[in-house]
Amino acid sequence: MVGLEQTATAAADKNKTDLEMATCPRCLGALTENHRCPRGPLSRVRDAIPTVLLGSLLGIVVCFAIEERPSSALLVAASALGAVLANAIRQAAGPKV
Ligand SMILES: [Zn+2]
Repeated sequence: MVGLEQTATAAADKNKTDLEMATCPRCLGALTENHRCPRGPLSRVRDAIPTVLLGSLLGIVVCFAIEERPSSALLVAASALGAVLANAIRQAAGPKV
């Protein structure tokens, strides 16, 4: 009896292991039992910050290129648009994380 139970448990463990050998949707590493993503949950936000900053800077530069004396509201809008666009491009071009 004990042997049968152990076999069943082993089979269940094997199924579980097979299931968990899928790749992690976040870090694309093998999903082992003790898998931990090498990058924390905040890393995606941290990665996006330079892109967003660069995008908003680009938006401001473009705004100054078009308008000689842009109003502050226009600058804010251009900066926000640049940030959003840069982030969208980053998400489209970067790896699907
Ligand atoms: Zn992971």
